[in-house]
Amino acid sequence: MDCIFCKIAAGEIPAKVVYEDEFCLAFHDVAPQTPVHVLVIPKQHIPSAAHVAEEHAEVASKLLLAVPKVAGLLSLEDGFRVVTNVGENGGQTVHHLHFHLMGGKKLAAVMG
Ligand code: 5GP
Ligand code: ZN
Repeated sequence: MDCIFCKIAAGEIPAKVVYEDEFCLAFHDVAPQTPVHVLVIPKQHIPSAAHVAEEHAEVASKLLLAVPKVAGLLSLEDGFRVVTNVGENGGQTVHHLHFHLMGGKKLAAVMG
């Protein structure tokens, strides 16, 4: 499959990895939008949050459980934002489910 995040998960494309377990990988975004900007992905290819189904229950819960672990590793105790873009209108550019974990400064409110 021609998916850049699958290739990163397989170690075929290098990334600055901050956390890894059996189900998930977290690595620095190549084009950070905030002082800390990490992507948390399942190793399994799931196209987006719109594609999460009952069969993904274990990996989906592991993905959410990875969030506080990654935040702890990055010293984000003052808070952070978790974002997942979905599809065309959501502005998704890489079609492999990922959480943007963003922080390192006080972020502006974003709605719309
Ligand atoms: P999306 O736009 O799908 O919500 O987020 C995709 C993110 O992946 C973007 O923030 C983009 O900078 C990041 N990205 C795209 N290609 C690569 C890559 O090869 N390596 C890393 N580390 N990040 C990438
Ligand atoms: Zn993929």
